[in-house]
Amino acid sequence: DLLISQIAAGEVVERPSSALKELLENALDAGATTLTVQLEGGGVDLIRVIDNGCGIARDELALALTRHATSKIASLDDLERVGTLGFRGEALASIAAVSDLAISSRQRDAAHAWRLRARDETASEPEPAALAAGTMIEVRELYRNTPARRKFLKAEATEYAHCAEAVRRIALAHPQVAFTLSHNGRSGLHLPASDAAGRAAALLGEDFLGESRALEAAAGGLRLSGRVGLPAQARTRADAQYCYVNGRFVRDKLLAHALREAYRDQLHGSRQPAYCVFIDIDPAAVDVNVHPAKTEVRFRDARSVHQFAFHAVQRALAATPA
Ligand code: ADP
Ligand code: MG
Repeated sequence: DLLISQIAAGEVVERPSSALKELLENALDAGATTLTVQLEGGGVDLIRVIDNGCGIARDELALALTRHATSKIASLDDLERVGTLGFRGEALASIAAVSDLAISSRQRDAAHAWRLRARDETASEPEPAALAAGTMIEVRELYRNTPARRKFLKAEATEYAHCAEAVRRIALAHPQVAFTLSHNGRSGLHLPASDAAGRAAALLGEDFLGESRALEAAAGGLRLSGRVGLPAQARTRADAQYCYVNGRFVRDKLLAHALREAYRDQLHGSRQPAYCVFIDIDPAAVDVNVHPAKTEVRFRDARSVHQFAFHAVQRALAATPA
C-alpha cells in the first residue's frame, strides 16, 4: 500500500540521484545501448530516462509498478547469484509512491508504444503513445506528497551534481553504452559508445590514461581489472575513485582500506589517488543485499579479498606506466 511504499521509498529514493540510479540500472538490465537522461530542477522537477532496451509489454506496464514485481528473479535460489543490477522489484513502486510517474514503452515488434501514468496510488489504463523501441520513464515532482523528505533536499545544483555522479559511476562500468545527460535543457555529459580506456579518459581526465597503470590480476575465483593512477597532471580529476564489484559501484571500507595501503608509498603531500577498479567475484561469495541503495557489499572471505586487492594494486603502481 501507499504508506509502505512511501517508507520503502525513503530508503530506495533517498534523493533524486538514487531514483535516477535505479532507472539507469533498469535500462541497462533491459539491454539498452543508448541512454538519454534529461533532468530539470536538480531532478526534483523532472527525471526523464529514455532507453533503447527491450521495452515492456502493454499488459506488464502496471505490473512493473507493483511492489516486489520483478521480472528478474524466478526463485529464491536466484537471489544467491544475482546477475542483473535490479533484483528487489521495489524501485519503480517506491518512486511511483512519491512522485507523478509515467512509463512509455514499446517492444521491438510492437506497432506503437503504450503509456501509463501513476500518481497518488492510482495508475491509468495504458494509452497508445509515440516512442521508438525502448522505454521512457518520466518522474515528475519527486517527493510531492512527502514534504518532510523534500525538506532534506539540497540546492538544485547539489542535487544535479549527485545525479551527474550517478551517471558517471554507471557510465564508467558500461563503456559500450552511449550516455547523454542534460539539465534544464543544457548539455551536461555526452559520452559516445567507447571501450574501457576511452570511457576512463572521458570521465577521469584525458591524462589519466597516460599516467595510470593497467590492473590485471586473477586468482582463486577473483579477478581485478581497471586502472590505477596518480593525479600528477592537472587534467586528471583528483579524488576520482571508483570501485566496482561485479559491475556494481560500491563504497566499501575494506576495499578502500586495501587501496589506501597499496598507495601508501606512492602518495606525496595531499594528493588523492585516482582509480577505477573492477572486481569480479563469484556472486555466491559476496552479499550485495546489505542495503537497498546497494552501494555496500559484504564479502564472505573479506581477508583474502583485501589481500588480493592490496597486492594487485601495489604491484600495478610499482610498474612503469602503460
Ligand atoms: P527490479 O529492477 O528490481 O526488477 P524495478 O521496480 O526497478 O524492479 O522494475 C520492475 C520491473 O519493471 C523490472 O523487473 C522490469 O521487468 C520492468 N522495467 C523497469 N524498467 C524497465 C526498462 N527501462 N525497460 C524494460 N523493463 C523495465
Ligand atoms: Mg530495478
